[in-house]
Amino acid sequence: MVHFVGAGPGGADLITVRGAKLLKEADVIIYAGSLVNPDVLQYRNENSVVYDSAKMTLEEVIEVMKQAHQEKKDTVRLHTGDKCLYGAVREQMDLLDELGIPYDDTPGVSSFCGAASALQAEYTLPGVSQSVIITRMPGKTPVPEREMVREFAKHGSTMVLFLSSSLLEELQKELLMGAYTEDTPAAIVYKATWPEEKVFACTVGTLAETAKRENIYKTALIVVGDILGSEYDRSLLYHPHFTTEFRKAKK
Ligand code: SAH
Repeated sequence: MVHFVGAGPGGADLITVRGAKLLKEADVIIYAGSLVNPDVLQYRNENSVVYDSAKMTLEEVIEVMKQAHQEKKDTVRLHTGDKCLYGAVREQMDLLDELGIPYDDTPGVSSFCGAASALQAEYTLPGVSQSVIITRMPGKTPVPEREMVREFAKHGSTMVLFLSSSLLEELQKELLMGAYTEDTPAAIVYKATWPEEKVFACTVGTLAETAKRENIYKTALIVVGDILGSEYDRSLLYHPHFTTEFRKAKK
C-alpha cells in the first residue's frame, strides 16, 4: 500500500496526526527533499528506508513503490504542503492504478494557509474580496492562455502566487494589466512556518525590487490584494442585529 501524505508547509509539527502516524508505521518513505523540511522525518521509525525524490525520476519513484509492494511493505510518499496543488501526483496515481497497487491520501496544510498565518491575514474579507485565486506564472510548465495572471487580475480578488518568486518583474506587469494598481498591498512570504520564515510587506509596484533587495528567488509565495490593507466591513455572522440559525438578533 502507498500512502500519499501532505507534509505541511514547513514547520515539522504541522504535519497532521494521521500523517505522523503513517510515517511511524512506514517501511519506505519517499519525500520531496527540495521542499519538505527534513525535520518532519523525526516521526519515522528508525528501520524505515528513506528516499529523496528530488534526485529521482517518476519511473524511479514508481519502481521503489513497486518493489516495496512486492515485499508487502508500506510506503509513505511525502509531499510538501498538500499534494493537490502543484504536486505532480496524478501521474503517480495513474501508474499505480496500472500496476494494481492500492493507495490512499492524507491531506496536509498547504503553504498558502501557512502564508496566511505568517501574515496574520484573512484572505476573504467582507467588502473587499470573497475569493482567492491560486495560480502561478508560466515557468517550465506552461500556463494556458486563458489562465494568465492578467486574465485573473481583472477580478481584483485576493491572489496567491506559487512558483513565481523568480519572475516578479513579469508578474508586476501582468498584475497591473488588471484591477490592481502600483499601490495595491502585496507581500512576499519566504518559507512560511519554517524556523527561517520571513515576511516582506510591499505593494504590487515594489514586488520585484523588494525580492531583489532581500535576495528572495525561491520557496516563497506572493500574496496580492486589498485584504492586506486596513479597510473592510465587519461580518454579519457575528453582528448583534443579525439573526442566525443559532442565535437571535439583539434589539
Ligand atoms: N503542494 C505545495 C506546493 C508545491 S509547489 C503546497 O501545497 O504548498 C512549490 C511552491 O510552493 C514553491 O515554489 C513556493 O512558491 C511554494 N511554497 C511551498 N512551501 C512554501 C513555504 N513554506 N513558504 C512559502 N512558499 C512555499
